[in-house]
Amino acid sequence: MSYITKSPWVIHYDGSSCNGCDIEVLACLMPMYDVERFGIINTGNPKHADVFLVTGSVNEQNKNVVKQIYEQMPEPKVVVAIGICACNGGIFRECYNILGGVDTVIPVDAYVPGCAARPEAIIDAVVTGLGILEQKRQALASGELLKEPEPEAAVAAAEEEGKEEA
Ligand code: SF4
Repeated sequence: MSYITKSPWVIHYDGSSCNGCDIEVLACLMPMYDVERFGIINTGNPKHADVFLVTGSVNEQNKNVVKQIYEQMPEPKVVVAIGICACNGGIFRECYNILGGVDTVIPVDAYVPGCAARPEAIIDAVVTGLGILEQKRQALASGELLKEPEPEAAVAAAEEEGKEEA
């Protein structure tokens, strides 16, 4: 992690998780795993955050909250989906009110499958995310802004591509 030039701050949002993954996120911050020793600090303010940690799936009730937190974070930023619910809806994906994983509403940079996700895997994904964050920071500094497609636009483009292939 020698490429890290500032302490990365994370913000954690529990979409609709059963709290299993949230406990594991908190374990990362507690003395046993102690990610604070790497300068990683948990903040409650999206405007101070570099890394967005999301647990639980996305539904009609929380989709705008997820979007608003993401939009309030300054560039560059990365998103980590924690637990299989956040990755694709998990065991709740067939429920009437579940839209799917976090990437149905915002771009996701790293996925941590598992039920619940283990702290080691969460830390590994955050470190992966920090590498991506640094790439985005360099791209911003060089004026080459990495413009990510809106999830809806990406889905529409993929559907259009599928139609053309058919
Ligand atoms: S992945 Fe498992 S532990 Fe995590 S929020 Fe979903 S059901 Fe709970």
